[in-house]
Amino acid sequence: MFGDIDFMQKSKDIGFKISNMDLHIDPFDDFYNYACGTWIKRSKIPKDSPIISSFYELRDNTYKKLKLILLSCIKEPSKFKNGKLLADFYQSYIDMKTRDRLKFSPIKYIIERIDALKGKDELPKLIAFLMLNAVNTFIRFDPSPDEKNSSVYALHIHQGGLSLPEKSYYIEDLLKKVRLSLRENIIRMFRLYGFSIAEAQRAADTVIRIETKIAMISRSKGELRDVLKNYNKMSTDEFRKRFAYLHLDELLNDIVPKLPDYLIVGQPEFLSGLGKIIEEENIDDIKLYLKWHVLRSTANLLHEKAANTLFLFFGRQLTGQKKMKPMWYRATNFIINTIGNALSELYVEKYFDKSAEAKAVKLVNNVRKAFRKRLSRVSWMSQSTKNKALEKFDAMSVKIGYPAEFKDYSSIKSSKNDLLGNYVKAYQFELKRTMNRVGKRVDKKEWYMEAFTVNAYYNASMNEIVLPAGIFQPPFFDPNLDDAINYGGIGGIIGHELTHGFDDQGSKYDKYGNLREWWETDDRQKFNEKAKDIENLYSSLEVLPGINVNGKLTLGENIADLGGIHIAYDALHYALKGKNPRIDGFTEEQRFFIAWAQIWKEKSTAKAKELMAKIDPHSPARFRGLIPVITHSDFERVFKEKSKLAAPKFRYSDVNLW
Ligand SMILES: [Zn+2]
Repeated sequence: MFGDIDFMQKSKDIGFKISNMDLHIDPFDDFYNYACGTWIKRSKIPKDSPIISSFYELRDNTYKKLKLILLSCIKEPSKFKNGKLLADFYQSYIDMKTRDRLKFSPIKYIIERIDALKGKDELPKLIAFLMLNAVNTFIRFDPSPDEKNSSVYALHIHQGGLSLPEKSYYIEDLLKKVRLSLRENIIRMFRLYGFSIAEAQRAADTVIRIETKIAMISRSKGELRDVLKNYNKMSTDEFRKRFAYLHLDELLNDIVPKLPDYLIVGQPEFLSGLGKIIEEENIDDIKLYLKWHVLRSTANLLHEKAANTLFLFFGRQLTGQKKMKPMWYRATNFIINTIGNALSELYVEKYFDKSAEAKAVKLVNNVRKAFRKRLSRVSWMSQSTKNKALEKFDAMSVKIGYPAEFKDYSSIKSSKNDLLGNYVKAYQFELKRTMNRVGKRVDKKEWYMEAFTVNAYYNASMNEIVLPAGIFQPPFFDPNLDDAINYGGIGGIIGHELTHGFDDQGSKYDKYGNLREWWETDDRQKFNEKAKDIENLYSSLEVLPGINVNGKLTLGENIADLGGIHIAYDALHYALKGKNPRIDGFTEEQRFFIAWAQIWKEKSTAKAKELMAKIDPHSPARFRGLIPVITHSDFERVFKEKSKLAAPKFRYSDVNLW
């Protein structure tokens, strides 16, 4: 009961509010805290989260709705589509009594298979077996549209094999404490599994040694953004010759129905380097490495002690989260990550407000109109490139709400007391579904996010933006509030996604979603210079003492934020039709910028900040709320009456990319 009251108060608190602002602060001095300072002072990071933010609060509300759906499925499974499947998955997760009784026995068959490995020749077959059992080790397969022939699915192969979030964690001095803490965690896990102290220590040292070698041949997160460098098409024959140690036919035999004619290798130098590492390492050490990855991938689904042990490092140490989420939340999260589409289908039926859709469509159209106008007026670009850019823009499609079709999960035979079995079956379902389509025509109707997800994306291969139902909620979208709030919220998000089609990577794809240079050389040169200014601006921002924003890693997102807010601001003026009324003492133009900053209100632990600075392609929320606003060409004029100071110096109009 208490929980329900809390839920009601929270949902009211999520939307745009003047009372979130700190009016003691001068907008020209610190706009972010001017717009959300009181919220930040008032908010506490929950013990079971590394963060509190608009996204967090909305997601929390969504999970509570999803839980109600799942509880209904348990009560009357036959009443709902996939009702038994959802109920079984949920019940098997929360049944800690069974999980505690089984301890490590659900993964016994996997560990035995590793123990049975006799020679390195058999390794590819074992890698495939592990993959079929939801354990990814050295490499990762990705059956997705061929970047240079976007109407056909191709099999991509990428670097993998690390426990830590990124290459730099194995190399930088600053992160040594994290490596030591991982070592502790591996020891703890193997001890729990039944190893002696000496055996567990040896296992941990072995895993870290092998992973450090893998890290040395891996590309960093920043380097991985380069889509052209990740595209290395190779015939199956050539792959067999270049990477003989992977025995391609055996590796893929149980995974794809038919060997494809070609593969796209993301990082060829990684595969070469991996061959050397496997050659150098002895087979017993490789087995220890593989066993750790089995434990790491499954501990959350085993007994409580195993799950808690994993959390000590991957939750507490890496993100600063103090305690685990409650059981119902973790169970819901498990379902989202396995059979989430079944949940989407029921969510849409119960919660999606169709009447809001018409308002959303109008908003999207205004933002599109504004972008087209900006694009046609860009002064630094030649007419011929601009014409092609406009063609690409006109060809860009928009998906709103939820997919026309949901996945058919009827082939999964679930059980309410076999959690790991359910997990592996769901994993195999997805693996089979995606692997079977290699070489076939791309399904343009597919969605890569669930309907309830509080997010949106641009898909370069399909040249489309996708806006799930989940993002059409306050503070992003509120049909009861004025235009400024909606244009500063969801309008900015839509502008952001549209701009991705023209950011440093998205702009390399043509209107059909094919990776192909369609720009005049001169224009590309000018674009790169402008992008460099943006990179430098963000690289100068400090996240924590000694850690700055990685301007290269976040470049695409920063371009999208800067473009997005300009486009949404223009679109707001279409809606205002020359008026600029005051509400609660602020003009619509002022409320627009405040609303944008408020969607990025956030408070997080220092550990989470450090982690995100290393791996997140987005800048920290406080800079997302701040920089696009204070660099906006109209910012000074709009807020002059509220300030006693001089306006901030950097102007986006000096760059004016989009
Ligand atoms: Zn983005």
